[in-house]
Amino acid sequence: MKKLLASLLVAVMTMSMLTACGSSDVAETTETTEATEVEATETETTEAEVAETEDAEATEAETTETEAAVSEALADGVLTVGTNAEFPPFEYVNDNGEPDGFDIALIKAIGEKLGVEVEVENMEFASLISSIGSKIDVAIAGMTVTDERKESVDFSDSYYDAVQYVVLPADSEIATAADLENKAIGVQLGTTGDFIASDIAGATVSQYNKAVDAVNDLINGRVECVIIDKNPALVFEGKFEGQVVAVDGAQFGFEPEQYAIAMPKGDAALVEQVNAALAEIKADGTFDELVKTYIEAE
Ligand code: GLN
Repeated sequence: MKKLLASLLVAVMTMSMLTACGSSDVAETTETTEATEVEATETETTEAEVAETEDAEATEAETTETEAAVSEALADGVLTVGTNAEFPPFEYVNDNGEPDGFDIALIKAIGEKLGVEVEVENMEFASLISSIGSKIDVAIAGMTVTDERKESVDFSDSYYDAVQYVVLPADSEIATAADLENKAIGVQLGTTGDFIASDIAGATVSQYNKAVDAVNDLINGRVECVIIDKNPALVFEGKFEGQVVAVDGAQFGFEPEQYAIAMPKGDAALVEQVNAALAEIKADGTFDELVKTYIEAE
């Protein structure tokens, strides 16, 4: 037994060393590529490094097939989670100055199932994806699954259906997709609302780091509408009652969206464990409780 344990330990240590080398190579690679995009020789080295990294990852995958898969992100017992606490009811700063909301409660419940501590880092929405794997392990931020984001991160199973809404001054005449053309539109930077607005013919798009700043500019008349996700739109409609209205984006032809947790690309063990925890939380009623507490209580 002892012998077996010892060799398991060595195997695990070797794996984490391999993984650690692998990821630092990737980090350097990215930097080198960005810094020297035009220098062909450097790029060649970079490609070689990438190949090495892939070899290391392949070895790791083989090893883990026979043993329990170990996620690098969970190995230290702490799951560092990035969010942008400007998106009620999914995430906001509570009266104690702490990030709170549906997503925060959900990721804490997931952390509990996985036996890790959850630490939340509040940052700009637009920085979340690039921080995964360095500053943070995962991101939960009412983040919509998109093909473009899937090129940089892996997503958990989706946990919430959403759609973009259009927030309008109470007396606005905007009612159709055509009415949005040539308008001044406020959005939160780097969000799906931002992507939709940028595709509207003749639109002048103002990008804000905080959604509430966009809504304030709507009230001040600096923009004519704000495109933002359904639930925050409804929260703002309540908060600025009589001043703004939130209109379902389906009326403007906006497609349904799904929220999921964003994770480092290629950490299959992490995706598997997070999905298993999410499934348990749905099955045991915790998920519905959180919906009641944070979303339906609005
Ligand atoms: N669901 C939108 C997106 O993923 C907005 C998310 C947010 O602002 N937190 O782009």
